[in-house]
Amino acid sequence: MSHTDSVDGHYIAGEWVTGEGEEFNSENPATGETLGRFTRGTDREVTAAIDAAEAAFAEWRELSYVDRAEYLWEIYHELRERTDELGEIVTRECGKEISEGRADVVEAAHMVEWAAGDARHPKGDVVPSEIAAKDAYMRRKPRGVVGCITPWNFPVAIPFWHMAVALVEGNTVVWKPAEQTPLCGRIVAELFDDTGIPNGVFNMVQGFGDAGSAIVDHAVDTVLFTGSVEVGHEIAREVAAQSGTRAACEMGGKNNIVITANADLETAVRSAVLSSFKTTGQRCVSSERLVVHEDVYEEFKSRFVEMARSVSVGDPLDEGTFMGPLIEAEHREKVVGYNDLAREEGVDVLVDRTDLDSEEVPEGHEAGHWVGPFVYEADPDADLRCTSEEVFGPHVALLPYSGGIERAVEIHNDTDYGLAGAIISEDYREINYYRDHAEVGLAYGNLPCIGAEVQLPFGGVKKSGNGYPSAREVIEAVTDRTAWTLNNA
Ligand code: ADP
Repeated sequence: MSHTDSVDGHYIAGEWVTGEGEEFNSENPATGETLGRFTRGTDREVTAAIDAAEAAFAEWRELSYVDRAEYLWEIYHELRERTDELGEIVTRECGKEISEGRADVVEAAHMVEWAAGDARHPKGDVVPSEIAAKDAYMRRKPRGVVGCITPWNFPVAIPFWHMAVALVEGNTVVWKPAEQTPLCGRIVAELFDDTGIPNGVFNMVQGFGDAGSAIVDHAVDTVLFTGSVEVGHEIAREVAAQSGTRAACEMGGKNNIVITANADLETAVRSAVLSSFKTTGQRCVSSERLVVHEDVYEEFKSRFVEMARSVSVGDPLDEGTFMGPLIEAEHREKVVGYNDLAREEGVDVLVDRTDLDSEEVPEGHEAGHWVGPFVYEADPDADLRCTSEEVFGPHVALLPYSGGIERAVEIHNDTDYGLAGAIISEDYREINYYRDHAEVGLAYGNLPCIGAEVQLPFGGVKKSGNGYPSAREVIEAVTDRTAWTLNNA
């Protein structure tokens, strides 16, 4: 079915609802092509979705874990069987190159598999009581309605990070996809609809920030959020002022890779190129700061610069492309603004592919939001906005240092953010020091600073995090505990 023929709306109480909000389009960021027409969710649709989720909760919570998981296993099989087809939709709508589009769907499948499989694992604690004839144990209970607000850059994976666990634990869900990827929202809602999940258990409201903030204002039982630092902190503040709502927010970063004098440079260059340029720098874990020891600096710089000059930027559907476009024109303006700012702040620019040569832009893609790598050298002690604010693009600072690992980690930690970071070193003492002192929620050793294990928490410290809206940790956000004691005498 073409999604441009008609206007798509929301999925509320098991029905497709057009709603009353204004129309908006989904656009392919590589071509400008319209992929679908949608309506913006307003407070009215959000209220209807929350009412439906509240009504459905009473019966959904009574099902066993494995019965709830059955619906998710169906989605798991669909995600596996249709990875190529769905991955292409992800790429068309958000511009990630095609292997990343497919990886988004595979990651979603992993998350669903984990959550559905977890239905068979023990869910509480049985503890010995000090009184012989007494049973003592802890049980988990679902909280109720979980509001999920997700970004565009992992438009299938992140929603399942939030929703799969929330549903298996017995909660019902109101989800708002990002306004840039409503078609992926529609496709995910169709996956749920096809399972025959009871009406109201899963609801999807399309729309912009006002629809997200309506979900928060309605004081749902838990809010799970992945997105920008500004919005995440606004949500955390709002939820803190409500009684009874809980929030888990994962936000952006200004992530570092430390490359020590003992680094294997092949690993270092590979890690830096993948971390800085994949997804065109638009991952919350993308690295924008490379902290490099002076002994290996010149060699690393020349190899990294050569790669930054040569990585291919182009049609994300082409298997040979390394970087697709940025998500939208407004975001391109922001990235270009930071490249200009870096110059104004007096850094030494090493690679500037801000404006791609016209022959680099593939035919038929002139309307895409293109930008290539921008690499510069800066003094790690200089107080610069370009090295301290999150750009969310292929904008990378090389920060040379001298001294030991303590100095490298001092530079690494000299940012307000604390999402992800990596160390490249063959010296276990350096690696151990980094592990113990790096102020991040996600740390990678001799690996690119990208990637998520669904078995591990995914979230940050400092400005980057306020809880973990992913995988196993979602259990904490979406359940309450009862400490139960029973007299058996
Ligand atoms: P990004 O920079 O990755 O687009 P945002 O934080 O702007 O991150 O958006 C992430 C999600 O949060 C999107 O679904 C967006 O519509 C939603 N959102 C934006 N503003 C608000 C808000 N004030 N309250 C709740 N959700 C919001």
